[in-house]
Amino acid sequence: MSLDSKTPKGPVADKWTNHKSKINLVSPANKRLIDVIVVGTGLAGASASATLAELGYNVKTFCFQDSPRRAHSIAAQGGINAAKNYQGDGDSTHRLFYDTIKGGDYRSREANVHRLAEVSTNIIDQCVAQGVPFARDYGGLLDNRSFGGVLVSRTFYAKGQTGQQLLLGAYSAMNRQIGRGKIKMYNRHEMMDLVIVDGKARGIIARNLVDGKLERHSAHAVVIASGGYGNVFFLSTNAMGSNVSAGWKIHKKGAHFANPCFTQIHPTCIPVSGDHQSKLTLMSESLRNDGRIWVPKNIEDVKLIREGKLKATEITEENRDYYLERRYPAFGNLVPRDVASRAAKERCDAGYGVNKTGEAVYLDFAAAITRYGKEQAHVKGLDENDSALVKKLGQDVVRSKYGNLFQMYEKIVDQDPYEMPMMIYPAVHYTMGGVWVDYNLMTSIPGCYAIGEANFSDHGANRLGASALMQGLADGYFVLPYTIGDYLADDIRTGKIDISLPEFEKAEAAVKVQLESFVNNNGKNSVDYYHKKLGKIMWDKCGMSRNKKGLTEAIAEISALRKDFYKNVNVPGTTKEFNEQLAKAGRVADFLELGELFAKDALERNESCGGHFREESQTPEGEALRNDKDFTFVSAWEYKGEPSKAKLHKEELKYEEIEVKTRSYK
Ligand SMILES: Cc1cc2nc3c(=O)[nH]c(=O)nc-3n(C[C@H](O)[C@H](O)[C@H](O)COP(=O)(O)OP(=O)(O)OC[C@H]3O[C@@H](n4cnc5c(N)ncnc54)[C@H](O)[C@@H]3O)c2cc1C
Repeated sequence: MSLDSKTPKGPVADKWTNHKSKINLVSPANKRLIDVIVVGTGLAGASASATLAELGYNVKTFCFQDSPRRAHSIAAQGGINAAKNYQGDGDSTHRLFYDTIKGGDYRSREANVHRLAEVSTNIIDQCVAQGVPFARDYGGLLDNRSFGGVLVSRTFYAKGQTGQQLLLGAYSAMNRQIGRGKIKMYNRHEMMDLVIVDGKARGIIARNLVDGKLERHSAHAVVIASGGYGNVFFLSTNAMGSNVSAGWKIHKKGAHFANPCFTQIHPTCIPVSGDHQSKLTLMSESLRNDGRIWVPKNIEDVKLIREGKLKATEITEENRDYYLERRYPAFGNLVPRDVASRAAKERCDAGYGVNKTGEAVYLDFAAAITRYGKEQAHVKGLDENDSALVKKLGQDVVRSKYGNLFQMYEKIVDQDPYEMPMMIYPAVHYTMGGVWVDYNLMTSIPGCYAIGEANFSDHGANRLGASALMQGLADGYFVLPYTIGDYLADDIRTGKIDISLPEFEKAEAAVKVQLESFVNNNGKNSVDYYHKKLGKIMWDKCGMSRNKKGLTEAIAEISALRKDFYKNVNVPGTTKEFNEQLAKAGRVADFLELGELFAKDALERNESCGGHFREESQTPEGEALRNDKDFTFVSAWEYKGEPSKAKLHKEELKYEEIEVKTRSYK
């Protein structure tokens, strides 16, 4: 299949509305004859399941957690974008489209992004109708805030719990369909493999994680909504269970994997505190609306801070370096994540990091507290010069906006962020890469789709804040349920897919062999031992900045680690019980393959773009330097036995509506 042949041609504005599709051929009556499997109940999977069921399809939905509500999406904090222009600040579909293409450093597909911008407004209406409690302003209208890389306020939010509230909305819609018998929900079930019959995705092998039994499930199409793979780095802000396995299994069965090296390192996370950690915590980007990022100007002050002899609050304004405001006056603290992360690393590498390990910068709310406090005093007719009163009033405003985030910080760090600036450092957060999909969100396996963070589709080399929830819900509520009809129109006479077909038998047998080999291995090292080692290689050599030497070493080291894993991993227990270590072994095995392809992709892409920073390709000021002549394409890797043999296909990116320029936030 040619990769670009499935991207619609013609002016971008017409691409969605005029896209020729067979969806009208699947009548409501015919939809009742069609089964669809959805793997995942995050925002993408839950919204897709509910909508497919609403349209009439028979849906089977799977998640490995005990409830769909525990999908990683529940952790999303800051908000969701939509081009509603409620603030009257000049927002529009075109502007969201433009910001997203530019934010992704001109490495995403125009047509998909335009469609995303178009449906963004519908998402908010849909969620409000479901009862999602978005924040409202004084007059009762939906409120907005700003996220990085844009100059408008288009982010809708529910305090610092936007993902939770959106997922509860989608979950309620799903529950209604579960009640109607249109969705059959399989909690604590892990998809172990895809079953392909006559070249089409026709089902999955799932493992019931409670009793260990393998099950066969058939359908006319399979939708993968399994989330991102940031946990390949071991330490990330992702939920502990987030993994690549569903995406990787379909990759091994023929789905191309796109841009694996495009990873987002988020600038505002709580710094690593030691070797004992297995998880990092995000401090939402929404905090950059009001928080100012800085390090001391003088290296002597840094030294005193590290020795505990000086406090951040004792450093005067003129001795602070608000380095984002200094370097990027137009966007200031709201530059995109990749830019903010690299700038923090640059300051810390230069010796200005403010914690013991030198890997932290300040995020300071003092100015915002004073600004809000004075405003409140003015509104209430109180004394604006009473600093204690102003501070209290200002803190109340900040608490109402970000209270739960401040509380989370205080619980983890044991320091009061209302009084002392937060300490933050970049951490792995999101993966723009993922399963390659065409405009209809179908992978290169007919009948197998990928949506949400699991696919590569919309964010290019860098995702803008609050755009992941937008994409997940766009895919789930407004794109996949309609584009899938294009394919399923041919299946109305197919009838039920028989799970006793030899293809199901073969796939189940292969899964069984792998599971048994893990528990019978009796090696000397735990699964986590390998995951941690992999994570260290990934962070050191494929992390915030990458170079040829490091990437070449990473490829060799990951390949050797994988061999050692199969020889020496120890998985306690049996295959016939609840066995978390066994589940994790399978996921780490896949990370060990993905990690190598990741490094290979990063090595191949000898340019800097978005979150992918090749040291060999930078401007004299240390900014990312793209090479549009040689790299304006999506890397789509075909599996050929093992990562080192993967074959690269290039989907050329054509920009018809947006002029490709050097990205600047100055
Ligand atoms: C801390 C944090 C905060 C964030 N905040 C924001 C924000 O404010 N705004 C924003 O836009 N984005 C945010 N993001 C990003 C956003 O949360 C994610 O990109 C998004 O939620 C992913 O949704 P998803 O539905 O694609 O996948 P997920 O929510 O990760 O769901 C994956 C689902 O797949 C299932 N699954 C996976 N593998 C299997 C398998 N093999 N078998 C069965 N089931 C499987 C899981 O059980 C789960 O149900 C944040 C991310 C993090 C880490």
